[in-house]
Amino acid sequence: RFIVFEGGEGVGKSTQARLLANALRATGLAVDLTREPGGTPGAEAIRALLLDAGGSDWGPRAEALLFAAARSDHVEKLIMPALETGRWVVCDRFIDSSRAYQGAAGGMCDDDILALHRIGSAGLLPDLTIVLRLEPQATQTRLRARDGDASDRIGGRAPEYHAAVASAFEGFAAAEPARFVIVEASGEAEEVHGRVMIALKRFEHG
Ligand code: C5P
Repeated sequence: RFIVFEGGEGVGKSTQARLLANALRATGLAVDLTREPGGTPGAEAIRALLLDAGGSDWGPRAEALLFAAARSDHVEKLIMPALETGRWVVCDRFIDSSRAYQGAAGGMCDDDILALHRIGSAGLLPDLTIVLRLEPQATQTRLRARDGDASDRIGGRAPEYHAAVASAFEGFAAAEPARFVIVEASGEAEEVHGRVMIALKRFEHG
């Protein structure tokens, strides 16, 4: 199975991905925990191009191509081989981040983002995408605790951009209820993890 966490910055995706991977491993499953952009040496190199010093200089189109290239390497070398051998993959962000950031917020059309995904990654979609939802105020508090300020890792993007990202995830979830679940991300990590496990069980048992 291929499970992805999505949501804006500071909603707790990395923490929840780790907690889920550990919980699945505890049941005896073989699980790969990974993240996007990144996950393979090539994709981590592209991540550095995107996020290190001056990452915000990329326009949405170049950004979309770089994310698609990173994802392509990640899918080909890590995700597909794992899924093909029956392993579970838990990933922090995937294609819906590109649709939300470079698409809805960055101004590219969804079809173009999906076309890049078809070319780069054969259109691979997660079995389940867990969107973590958190109030902007709580998000800012978590980001300040993590990074010392409340901006994103690609600096210089306006609050409106992030609002567009958050509402895009809600829209994707509403449009494709079979592939998405929205989980309330307020409260302690363990509490959110409990909600994630309930959502996963519901998904597994139809
Ligand atoms: O917090 P995380 O490790 O997910 O940071 C990745 C950064 O890349 C975030 O700042 C996020 O805004 C950005 N990003 C993006 N477009 C994507 C995926 C991530 O702008 N498709």
